[in-house]
Amino acid sequence: MRVLLTGGAGYIGSHTALVLLERGHEVVVLDDFSNSSREAVRRVEELTGKTIPVIEADLADREVATAALADVAFDSVVHFAGLKAVGESVAQPTRYYRVNIDSTLVLLDLMRERGVDKLVFSSSATVYGDPEYVPQDEAHPVGVGLTNPYGWSKFMNEQIIRDAQVAWPELGAVLLRYFNPVGAHPSGRIGEDPSGIPNNLMPFIAQVAVGKREHLSVFGDTYNTPDGTGVRDYIHVMDLAEGHVAALERIAAGVTTYNLGSGTGSSVLEVVRAFGEAAGREIPYVIAPARGGDVAETVANPTKANVELEWQTTRTLADACRDSWAWQSANPQGYTA
Ligand code: NAD
Ligand code: UDP
Repeated sequence: MRVLLTGGAGYIGSHTALVLLERGHEVVVLDDFSNSSREAVRRVEELTGKTIPVIEADLADREVATAALADVAFDSVVHFAGLKAVGESVAQPTRYYRVNIDSTLVLLDLMRERGVDKLVFSSSATVYGDPEYVPQDEAHPVGVGLTNPYGWSKFMNEQIIRDAQVAWPELGAVLLRYFNPVGAHPSGRIGEDPSGIPNNLMPFIAQVAVGKREHLSVFGDTYNTPDGTGVRDYIHVMDLAEGHVAALERIAAGVTTYNLGSGTGSSVLEVVRAFGEAAGREIPYVIAPARGGDVAETVANPTKANVELEWQTTRTLADACRDSWAWQSANPQGYTA
């Protein structure tokens, strides 16, 4: 397959590009580099020995994206492009809705015009809101009690893709609901490179470990969880990347939803301990107030993906900490060093 990766220079996109190339597929990356670097793509080329055509364009801009892709051939799409900072989405709702919704609308029209009928979309466990039960399967209610425009934009995108498929029955779309992606390629050459202060737990811990930040603030220790801190299902980004390849290779007309997670929950303090062991140093932390909008616990029931995609996670939280540390310690300034 020749796969267009929108947002393919980003954290998950770059790892997926690598796995697709290693599986013998071709990839084309479209990115506006608003939250990523060309260096990520260059390093995927270096790791795989393959060339990746790169198109720099804003997918949410219909004219720009249509012109940029006019001469580019592809037969399937993985749509990663979008803005993802939850707190920023609360402060800048119109920007988040514009980018995250318009990019999907432009892409769907473009795919239909071109007859490209295979789409994998980056959704999120955030669509489940505050879980009614854990672990959550795909039948868990979605769109109830979502607390931020980022989450709503994922929920709306899922609906937009379903409606587009009703109007265009040949379209095969897979909505992948990611749990918490962490880790890096084991080479330490590519990884997560957040700009500014990391929002997410593992990149924050990694920056504490490397000495860029003094301590971690643990957001809340009175949740109804075994140690009182929030529980999440952390999935190694290489497992996640493999999930995309499995989904793409099995795509059929219709819309299918899969959880991509490990099925195991870990608390904030468990992640702190695991990272400390991987890095061979203490991770200083303080207990801070709970973060608004956070839920106590989310854990995937990944059975549907395990069975239908013949995919499962093979890497542990310890593996993710080791690989994240390899990336962070070799690239303390990310790709800009
Ligand atoms: P990322 O920010 O590293 O990657 C997104 C990429 O999209 C970046 O390279 C960015 O420059 C690009 N982009 C943004 N707006 C664009 C536009 N208008 N046109 C073209 N390119 C644009 O994020 P990521 O962690 O790799 O996430 C990829 C996708 O997965 C996103 O849709 C995100 O919402 C979703 N997701 C991420 C997580 C997570 O925790 N990382 C969890 C669930 C879902
Ligand atoms: N968290 C924390 N300190 C931080 C960042 C995150 O204690 O600096 C906690 C957060 O409250 C949640 C877990 O770590 O319980 C995972 O948060 P993250 O933002 O990585 O992912 P989320 O599940 O919120 O999307």
